Amino acid sequence: MTSKKKVFKIINFNKKLEKYANSKTFSVVEDSGFEYKSVERIFDHIEKVAKIPSVLSEYFVREYIIKQLKLINRTYRVDKVGNVYVLPKNESKVLLSAHMDKQAKPNYYDSDSSIVGKLDDAIGIGIILALLKNNNFHGLFTIGEERGLLGSKYAVKNDLIPSGVDKAVVIDVSPRPPKKGVQFYSSFNNKRASINLVEIVVNIAKSLNVNIQPMSGAINDGTILIRKIKDTIAFESYIDNFHSSNECCQKKEIIDIYRIVEGILTI
Ligand SMILES: [Zn+2]
Repeated sequence: MTSKKKVFKIINFNKKLEKYANSKTFSVVEDSGFEYKSVERIFDHIEKVAKIPSVLSEYFVREYIIKQLKLINRTYRVDKVGNVYVLPKNESKVLLSAHMDKQAKPNYYDSDSSIVGKLDDAIGIGIILALLKNNNFHGLFTIGEERGLLGSKYAVKNDLIPSGVDKAVVIDVSPRPPKKGVQFYSSFNNKRASINLVEIVVNIAKSLNVNIQPMSGAINDGTILIRKIKDTIAFESYIDNFHSSNECCQKKEIIDIYRIVEGILTI
């Protein structure tokens, strides 16, 4: 559960983010506050990653991530297959994960309340990089997700998940239109996260006035991470034109995921 003080802070944040989500371009909202900068940071990272020309290899996406980590003085490791592990500043039990591989050519443009481009999984990477600036958690950027969850399999098989991590949040995208809101996965195959964590997510979403759609059947790195990290969940934003260079996503949905995950980091 979040404390009242924290919830209040998040609600204030919420209003500024909604204003931003409804703006046509980034420059329409005049606000120099920290919250606005956080959101601007998300879309800046998404744009940069979406434009990186790396259809077959994660190399340039990894280089971008490493450059950002150096800029914010975060320590990282790269394993033999190329997964990137970001170490927390202080002890943390939470790991956030997104994948670095892409399935189509680079592209990005802003389209009113949506963004269009090669967004899978630039969205997950952008949200995590933006959160890393001011939050304490483990990060895992994986290789080969689209080629059979190769990076997460390697990390779990070789016991590379940091000890002490007991919650994982995977951020990815989905071609399945939800009935309402952000797609929330709390089970993978026959394994499911604890009721406690699900309740925490539901309460955070309520406090933010964000609709979440409980879903099952996701095939993403969470399918593998849950073998090692019992409390693994995933958020997926709905993407039109899935696995093309013109994937389309609502800005609001991306911001909603950012806010929920930030809420999880405050518990
Ligand atoms: Zn993906």
